[in-house]
Amino acid sequence: MMGALQPGLHHCSPLAGESLDTLTQVIADPYHPPPPGREERHHGIDFAYYRRAGRVSIQGQDVQSVLTGTVAAALSGTFPYGNVVIVESALDLLPAAWVDRLGAKPGEALYVLYAHLESAPLLRMGAHVSLCQVVGQVGKTGNAGMAHLHLETRLGPADSRFPGMRYYVKEATPEEKQAYRLWRTSGVFRHFNPLDLLSPGDAPPPFPTPGPIHSTSRSSSPEPRTND
Ligand SMILES: [Zn+2]
Repeated sequence: MMGALQPGLHHCSPLAGESLDTLTQVIADPYHPPPPGREERHHGIDFAYYRRAGRVSIQGQDVQSVLTGTVAAALSGTFPYGNVVIVESALDLLPAAWVDRLGAKPGEALYVLYAHLESAPLLRMGAHVSLCQVVGQVGKTGNAGMAHLHLETRLGPADSRFPGMRYYVKEATPEEKQAYRLWRTSGVFRHFNPLDLLSPGDAPPPFPTPGPIHSTSRSSSPEPRTND
């Protein structure tokens, strides 16, 4: 894994109630990338817990924008993402060395996707999003067996917009299917480990990170199954 951003930079935990330092404790499913151009495996990270710091569920927790940016997608009822927001951020917000290590090309931007949100997004495509602005709440819409935040980070052409991303329903238009493939499998939008953006310090913990979900004995509770 490449080094993550250094502490002190202006980025925000995507999950209210967790700092950038504690996020790794609530990883229910790590980044497990498929071969390029493939749909399977896991293009992002799932954050989930049953009980934590007095909270009885992650469901309803605020989801916060990791960086300042612009809404590239604000959609409801997609699959696998459910209610989903994508925020585009300019790469010049980030250290040049970090951007170089990720292999960013000229004219590209960083895109962060927040999936399975509880409600249809209130944000609109093209809206400005400030650092730590709430983009929704943790839910289980789309392909989600339990409430969790699915987070993806990708590099892709700047100023891209996704007015629709339906693919698996017969009502999906050719444009929606094209947008879905563009994001998921085209190779134009290249996913990378979100921890390379989020985790402070140069040596993030190795996967899988044991967290309360795994270390607490709850024989009556199934292991979280977050699906996507
Ligand atoms: Zn996921």
